[in-house]
Amino acid sequence: MDPAWFPWKDRITCSLDILMHLPRSVFSEKQLDLFLWLLNINKLPAEIPSVDSMKALNEKLQKLYGVNSIRKQGALGHVYYVNDLAQIIAQEMANPQVREHLKFYPEDSGKKLSEARQAKRWLEEIPDDLLTPMARIHGQDFYIHEPAMLKDTTCCIPVRWFERGNNLYAKCWRMEPVVSDHTRGWNVIRCVDFEVPASSLLKNFVEFQDDAHLYGIPSPTILLREYDADGILIGDWTHTNPIDGNRWRKLAGGHRVVSFAMWMYCDDTSGNLSKKWNKHNSFLFTPAGLPREESQREYNVHFLCTSNLAPPLEMLDGIVDQLELADENGIWAWDCKENEPVLVLPFVLALLGDNPMQSEFAGHIGLRGKYFCRICWVHGSDTNEAVPGESNVSPQPSEIDSETGSTRAPSPSSGVPTQKKGKKKFKETIEQMRDRVTSFIKTGRLRSKSETEGYLSSYMTEAKKLYTKTKIKKLRTETGLKDTFQDFFIERLFRASEGKGASADVKRRALEDVISTLPPDPKTTSPVWRIKGLDPHRDTPVEILHVILLGFLKYMWRDLVQNQFKKNDSRRELLVARLKSVDTTGLNIAKITEDTLVKYAGSLTGRDFRVIAQVVPAIIHDLKLDDACRETWLALCKLVPLVWQPEIPDIDEHIRILQHEIDHFLLCATRWTCRWFNKPKFHIFVHLPFHIRRFGPAILFATEAFESFNAVIRQKSVHSNRQAPSRDIARAFAQGNRIRHLLSKGLFVLAKDSSNRPAFSVDPRDWVTVGIEPRSMVASPSTMSKYLGIEYKKRPGSCTIPKEYDKLVFSQTVTGQKFPNSEKYPSRSRLYSRFIRASHISIVEDNGKECPIGAHVVVRDPLDQSTYVACLLEVLQEVGSMSQQSGQASSILVRMANVSNEAVAYRMPRIIYTDIHRLVAAKVSLKCQSLVY
Ligand SMILES: [Zn+2]
Repeated sequence: MDPAWFPWKDRITCSLDILMHLPRSVFSEKQLDLFLWLLNINKLPAEIPSVDSMKALNEKLQKLYGVNSIRKQGALGHVYYVNDLAQIIAQEMANPQVREHLKFYPEDSGKKLSEARQAKRWLEEIPDDLLTPMARIHGQDFYIHEPAMLKDTTCCIPVRWFERGNNLYAKCWRMEPVVSDHTRGWNVIRCVDFEVPASSLLKNFVEFQDDAHLYGIPSPTILLREYDADGILIGDWTHTNPIDGNRWRKLAGGHRVVSFAMWMYCDDTSGNLSKKWNKHNSFLFTPAGLPREESQREYNVHFLCTSNLAPPLEMLDGIVDQLELADENGIWAWDCKENEPVLVLPFVLALLGDNPMQSEFAGHIGLRGKYFCRICWVHGSDTNEAVPGESNVSPQPSEIDSETGSTRAPSPSSGVPTQKKGKKKFKETIEQMRDRVTSFIKTGRLRSKSETEGYLSSYMTEAKKLYTKTKIKKLRTETGLKDTFQDFFIERLFRASEGKGASADVKRRALEDVISTLPPDPKTTSPVWRIKGLDPHRDTPVEILHVILLGFLKYMWRDLVQNQFKKNDSRRELLVARLKSVDTTGLNIAKITEDTLVKYAGSLTGRDFRVIAQVVPAIIHDLKLDDACRETWLALCKLVPLVWQPEIPDIDEHIRILQHEIDHFLLCATRWTCRWFNKPKFHIFVHLPFHIRRFGPAILFATEAFESFNAVIRQKSVHSNRQAPSRDIARAFAQGNRIRHLLSKGLFVLAKDSSNRPAFSVDPRDWVTVGIEPRSMVASPSTMSKYLGIEYKKRPGSCTIPKEYDKLVFSQTVTGQKFPNSEKYPSRSRLYSRFIRASHISIVEDNGKECPIGAHVVVRDPLDQSTYVACLLEVLQEVGSMSQQSGQASSILVRMANVSNEAVAYRMPRIIYTDIHRLVAAKVSLKCQSLVY
C-alpha cells in the first residue's frame, strides 16, 4: 500500500472509487464493468482491479470511514433506510470546507438582517437549552443555568449566549441570597433585561463553589426558588440539579459543547418521470449555521432518507429518534478548526417543503380544506359551490393544480365557464364575497402547537369509542387539523368496529383488542410533535419558490400566454420577439433564444419564472392588456426583487415596504378579479413578513438548492435495482458523503484494524486525512472537483483578460481620456506604462462572481459612504504592476446613473446616465445588478 494514496491502495483504486461514488454522479455496476474493460484493453501499466474487488474495497472503506444507512421498521409498517445523522454532523465538524463557515451562537445584529442566526427565531425564540449551552472564557467553561460571578462580584445565572459585534454576551437571571437561621441559599429572579458581556464574567460554577465562603455568600449549589420579573413565585428551581450544574458539563468532560442548527426539507420526487407510482419522498437537510451563500450550495445539502413506500411522517419518525438520542447524549465530533473534540447538540430550525408537505408537517388538512391555512385560522367559503364562476363538473386530471391538488381556478380572462351539468349553484352574495376576500388577505388568529396537540389528542380519545367516525370527520373539517400519522391508527380503530350486523358488545370487544395493540403515546401522533422547540405551524416558513415562482408567476404567465393572447397571434408573436431581444446581461442566464417560455407556458420551472419576473414589465407595456391585469403584473414584478433581497439593512423599514407592496399587489389582484382568491397561495403569502422576521431573508428558506438536488435523487433512483430503492439510494448517498469528506480533506480516526469502525478518539494524533496524492487531486479546479461541488472562488477584484488584447498607452484608454491627470496613476505610469483592458471583473458582494464590462453595478464607495448605480465602463490592468502579477484590476472606471425618476410604464426606476465618471478602487464594494431595468 502506497501511503501517498491512503486510504486507497493506489492511484487506480482511488480514482475508480471516486468515479463510482462522486456525490452528484451516478455510476452503475454495468458502467464500471465497461470502464474496466476499457482500461484493460488499453493495457494500462497498473494492475486493473475487478468489479468484485472494487465493491469489496468500497464496502470496507465505507464501514471504516463512511456514514451508515440504518434499517428502520417504520411505525406504519414500511421498511426504510435512514442515514446516520450523527455521523453526517460529525463529518461536517471535521471538514475544513464546512467548519470554517459554521456559526454556533445567535447574533444580535440590530436592525440589519442577513443570516438565520440574526433573526428572531434563533436569537430569541428557540428554547435556551437547545442553543449552545456554554462559552469558554479565559480558559473557563461557563454553562447556562449555572450560577456565575461577575468581576464586580455580582452573582447571576447566564441563560442564553449570543454575539453582538464581535463579542459574546449572555442574557442572565438575577440571584438573591437567602440567609436565615434555617436556610442558606439563593433565589433566582427570571428578569428579562439583564445582559452581561462575556468579558465581565469572573468565576464559573466550579470556581464559585470553591470560593463562595471567601465572600461570605451561600454556595451556588443551593438554588431554592424561582420568581418571575415581577417577583411572583414560579416554583422550585428545576432547570438543573443544582449540585451538579448543567448536565452538559458532565457529558462534555471538559470539552466544548456547541449546538448545530438545521434546515430540514422534505419533498416528493418522482423516481421515474413517466411512472407516477414510483414517487419518492425524500428528506434532506443543510446546516443553518452556515452563512447564506454557503447554505445555498448543493455541496452543503445532505441526504437523509428516501422511500417510495413509507410516507414522509413515517420516515420523519426515524429522524426524530436520532434527534432525541443526540439530545440525550450529544454527538462527539472532531472540531478541525480548534483541533479538539467537541460535543454537538443538533436542533431543527425549520421544516421546509412545498405547501402540501408543510401542511402535512403541521398536522393540517391541506389547501383544499375549508380552513386551508396551516399557519392561521382563516377560512374559505362555507361551500365549495359558492365560488363564483366555478363549475361543478368534476375536474379533469390535467386541470389539477400539481401542488395544491385543487382544481385550477378558471383563468380570469377566460370568461365564465359554461356550466354543463351538476347541481344548481349556491350563489355567494356581494357581502359574503367581500367578507371572504377581506379575511382572505389578512392574517387570521395564529395556530399553535399546544392547541393542535389538544385537538389531536381529543380525536384519539373519540376514536377509542364506538360510532365516532362521523364526529371525527366533522371535527377535522371544523379545525382543519388532520395528522396523517395518527390517521393510520385511527383508521385501524374505525375498521375494528365496522362489522355489519355485529352487536355493540362484539364491536366494543374488537375495538378494545385493537386499542391494546396501539403504541403508547406520543407514538400514535406525528413525530413532528416530538421535535424539541419546534412548532410546525410557525416553523414551516412560506416558501417563495412554490408560492411566488411556481404560484403567482405560473398562474399569471399561463393566463397571459394562454388566455390574454389566445386569439391574437400578432400580439403573441410580438411577445416572443420581445422576449428574444431582452438584454440578459447581469441576469446570469444565457440569452433567451427559444420561444419555450411561451410555447410551454404550462410546464416551466422556477428558474424560468425567475427570468420572466425580471423581464415582464419591459415586454408587456403596450400589448393592450387590461389595465388591472397589467397593474397586477407590475406590482408582482416590483415585489419579486424585494422578496429576494439577500441582505436587509433595516428590518423594520424593509417589512414596512414589503407589507405595502404585498397589499398593493393583492389590491391590484382584487381589482382584476376576486377569483384569484380561490387560490390559497394568495393567502399564505400574507404570512411572509412574519417569517422573514423570524428566519431572515426569504432566500434563506427558499428550497431552490434542495430542488436541484432532487434531480440527483431521481437519477440514483433510476439506477437502483428497484428491489429496495430506499436502501440502495441511501447507501449511494452515504458513499457520496464519504468521498466528499475524504476529498475535502476532512479528518477521520485512523482504523487500527481493517474490520471495525474505529471508536471516537480525543487524541489529536489519531485524526488523519487522506494521503498527499488524493489531496493534490482537488488542489485546483477539475472535472472531479466540479462533481464534488468544491468551489474555487476568484478573489474579489480579480479580472479576466480576453485572449486577444491590445497594450494601450494611457491616453488611448477611456480612463485616460476622462481622467488625464488622475492621481490613481503616477505621472511616470501615465506617460510610459501600457494598459490592458479586462473583459470581466470579480466583484466583492457577489462572492467572486464575474461581472462583464457594460453591466449595471451598484457601487458602495467606502471613502464617502456613497451608494449609487453606475455602468461598468472600463477595467484596466497596468502592465508590469503589482496588480497584474496578482491578477487584480489596477483601476475601475464607472459612469454614474441617476435613478431618481420613475419609468411610469414599468413602475420601475428609470436609469439615466449622467456625464459623471468615477474611478473606483479595485476593492470597492460593487454589486452586479440583475434587477434593474
Ligand atoms: Zn393564514
